[in-house]
Amino acid sequence: DTLTVSELAKKLTKEPSEIIKKLMFLGVMATINQELDKESIELIAGDYGVEVEEEIIIDETEFEAYENADKEEDLQTRPPVVTIMGHVDHGKTTLLDSIRNTKVTASEAGGITQHIGAYQIEDKGKKITFLDTPGHAAFTTMRARGAQVTDITILVVAADDGVMPQTVEAINHAKAAEVPIIVAVNKMDKESANPDRVMQELTEHGLIPEDWGGDTIFVSVSALKGDGIDDLIEMIQLVSEVEELKANPNRAAQGTVIEAELDKGRGSVATLLVQNGTLNVGDPIVVGNTFGRVRAMVNDLGRRVKTAGPSTPVEITGLNEVPQAGDQFMVFVDEKKARQIGEARSKKQQEAQRKESSKLNLEDLFNQIKEGDIKEINVIIKADVQGSAEALAGSLRKIEVEGVKVKILHTGVGAITESDIILASASNAIIIGFNVRPDNNAKRTAEAEKVDVRLHRIIYNVIEEIESAMKGMLDPEF
Ligand code: GDP
Repeated sequence: DTLTVSELAKKLTKEPSEIIKKLMFLGVMATINQELDKESIELIAGDYGVEVEEEIIIDETEFEAYENADKEEDLQTRPPVVTIMGHVDHGKTTLLDSIRNTKVTASEAGGITQHIGAYQIEDKGKKITFLDTPGHAAFTTMRARGAQVTDITILVVAADDGVMPQTVEAINHAKAAEVPIIVAVNKMDKESANPDRVMQELTEHGLIPEDWGGDTIFVSVSALKGDGIDDLIEMIQLVSEVEELKANPNRAAQGTVIEAELDKGRGSVATLLVQNGTLNVGDPIVVGNTFGRVRAMVNDLGRRVKTAGPSTPVEITGLNEVPQAGDQFMVFVDEKKARQIGEARSKKQQEAQRKESSKLNLEDLFNQIKEGDIKEINVIIKADVQGSAEALAGSLRKIEVEGVKVKILHTGVGAITESDIILASASNAIIIGFNVRPDNNAKRTAEAEKVDVRLHRIIYNVIEEIESAMKGMLDPEF
């Protein structure tokens, strides 16, 4: 916790001789390598208008041990966390309501449903958690913030409408996150329903039904009439068993913020999804860059609860500030430690974000390839017509330089949107716009997220650019 004169000079970006002179005025005769006491450091720094903050030293090994503490024998099966995605108006909200109404947690029937951002149902003694902000935007925004909360995706496709642009986006977002997909073919009650067409169209996107030799589960439902909901739930349980989802309920809790807001009466209110451990009222907790103590917990039926185990969503109060959706939380036995780790975490997170933001740049690609950091370059293609998007994707897939390949995460028609940028940010991808540009929201988000967007009009140029970047011959862009 001490500094030599030259170290202090460096920190203040001053010449050591200047510091020595100032010290002389203070009656301290110092040489350049002399260690200064805390008081002198504060005096000199104060003179330059710099405030001295003592660095908190956290034992990183303890921190990591905390994160990886679970032994195989401590792990128990936990409920799956499910997100519903699909094109607008295909019935996501109706399906969420329908599932909730048919299967309110049996032990808690009679409660009044609360919107806290997630809810839990129980079926034959087994629970399932649903995130009730449908859509891939929320899903990927969380992922961009480093949170992986979804275990299973339900892709809703209206049987009378078929695969639409946001259906394809949803598929690609789920695939990029490597989350298994169950297809719910909805609106089967409609006369114009054509489930075969839906299956056919989805096959083109790699979702092949089991009957046709693939491994994607399709369930026919009518969210409106409540038909097929039991089948859907059974399939969720099945996939969940295959995934072997586990957690250790007997440890301090950790997880992710689902949503958060400032409530006039209650202060900072946050819905937390416990992903490991058990959360208790009174726990000292670090949430993103804020911390506090869990004052009260309320479940999705508005009931006060004292504990919340793995995969349980609860709304808590007691945080100093309002965290953001996607922030991670952790409980610490000792409140002082919670505060210290909270600060260290926030610093670590900021550093990680800074590192991340430079990762996406095409100019840096070659260095990362050379260092062996990447084996695949993730690319998102938006084009004016589907034909060019596919042609471009096909050509890029053929490029291979030193064992590094191009992986196409998503292709689409139309302007580059915010959703494309968020997907790129979450998946560390580059976006190529072919005869299209980003819309205003996308432009702003791309700047904030530091996503590399390359605009082109000639396929050959795109291929050449990517290839040159991979070979380290890219002309710098000015
Ligand atoms: P979202 O935009 O995907 O959340 O779609 P909504 O759940 O808001 O549904 C859009 C419209 O489709 C609403 O008018 C629903 O009543 C209707 N809808 C949803 N599911 C079904 C269904 O199974 N059958 C029929 N006939 N209509 C449905």
